[in-house]
Amino acid sequence: MAEAARRGVQRENIFLLSQEGLSASVQAEADVRLAPARMSLNGCTMRFLAVGAAQRVFASSPDRIILSELTASGSDVVIAAGALPFTLIADGKAWHSCGPLARPANDGATRVWCSIIEAGNESGSLIFDHVALEYDHKSAMQRLADADKKHEAQELVTGRWSSTALLPKDEAKATGAALSPEPIIFAKGAENFRWPAFIKAKTLAPQKFNDPEITANGDRRARVELSSLRSLWINTGTLCNLSCANCYIESTPRNDRLEYITAREARAYLDEIASDNLPTREIGFTGGEPFLNPHTIEMMDDALSRDFDVLMLTNAMKPMRRYERELISLNQRFGSKLTMRVSIDHYTQRLHELERGPRSWLPTVDGLKWLSRNDFRLHVAGRLYSGESEAAVRDGYDALFREIGVRLDASDPVALVLFPEMDATADVPEITEACWGILAKSPSDVMCSTSRMVVKKKGAERPSVQACTLLAYDERFEVGRTLQEASGPVSLNHPHCAKFCVLGGAACSK
Ligand code: SF4
Ligand code: SF4
Repeated sequence: MAEAARRGVQRENIFLLSQEGLSASVQAEADVRLAPARMSLNGCTMRFLAVGAAQRVFASSPDRIILSELTASGSDVVIAAGALPFTLIADGKAWHSCGPLARPANDGATRVWCSIIEAGNESGSLIFDHVALEYDHKSAMQRLADADKKHEAQELVTGRWSSTALLPKDEAKATGAALSPEPIIFAKGAENFRWPAFIKAKTLAPQKFNDPEITANGDRRARVELSSLRSLWINTGTLCNLSCANCYIESTPRNDRLEYITAREARAYLDEIASDNLPTREIGFTGGEPFLNPHTIEMMDDALSRDFDVLMLTNAMKPMRRYERELISLNQRFGSKLTMRVSIDHYTQRLHELERGPRSWLPTVDGLKWLSRNDFRLHVAGRLYSGESEAAVRDGYDALFREIGVRLDASDPVALVLFPEMDATADVPEITEACWGILAKSPSDVMCSTSRMVVKKKGAERPSVQACTLLAYDERFEVGRTLQEASGPVSLNHPHCAKFCVLGGAACSK
């Protein structure tokens, strides 16, 4: 209020907000509400919603996640408590988070944060002011220490949180990065803007990932030898009944860049495994949606009958449900040799459908329940695209599995595999030979040290082998026609190699 008075702003147009202050708004109309409040600002009406800690929205959350929350709220402006203070203005809407109460903002400073929001001079404009307050943190620290709250006491002195487990990775990484507040003006039609800006990803420099031997800095690029072919993936074709927003293989109901592979073609690779006595234990099937391929059940039967473990990736929707009888039969004959892995992009219907399209949630959840009821060995593939921490995402899936009665351990990284996001345009360091030692990682940690993927490229006379499941079209990663030809080393010459595999730690087949 002192700040507001300093500015000479009229009382009825001010909200003084901190995490608890959400319930102590200066004006009655801004009290915490479940439905948006309509308010007039210099003659322009806007819909406001004040919410408590919104677990899914963070300073680093992607714009479209925040926009989706804004749209769902039915308001123009959401004023929230949150882990760290931030404001996003996008598409004529605003999300403003005042930050944590009585806790520094993990920026290495002892200040605490609140917000002053006031009407701007122009009709329908607002000024969001993130305000950093100095206070007697030493006395507060002493009181906490006396109450044996050592971690909390330390935070007040260091300005850093004792645990960042619930923060998204980017924000946890930015621990100690100083925040410099500035007033943010919002009006309908305002340009998109985000504060703080340090979270923004840089774009990939064009000179990176060009030479298979040498990085842009002139260092020797890392390579990965095939140590032993433990998993062979068979891509059944890229057609899919869905067109997910960020499908790694760009599948749609029309994309047939990878054709349906036939059972006879797949069998040739199983024969090669047998004749060369390769140590392959697992056959994975991926698409597209594998159950659109009319040969899929036969291919599964073939692989299971040869005593391979089979991992089947599916969205568990109608294409899979057409084969209920055949799947039950396979499950009865082969039991835990068969694992069905169902893709669910988020544990909420809204964010799952934001990626996968309307009406994609219920059929998948229903398919998952059908598999569970019929005692299939089940895994789920989720994603970290919402920007939440992995711990928060696992908790969310755990609640979902309990609610729908599916027995699956969401804390098990194999039963619930969570994929980091793939963005080939975002900047990422190139992986050099020296990186293995620096990162304390081994080439044997990445998929292409133990697996390959068979694909049938459109128009090709016969299938070929790609280094891995992630680079299905890239000619530079076509490593041969036969498994024998495909057993050479792979040069890590793609952004996915760095971001997804070496730094992201993803493994499709685990
Ligand atoms: S269901 Fe899977 S294969 Fe199909 S579009 Fe979505 S992500 Fe791609
Ligand atoms: S994306 Fe990963 S698995 Fe594929 S070639 Fe690169 S490092 Fe290997």
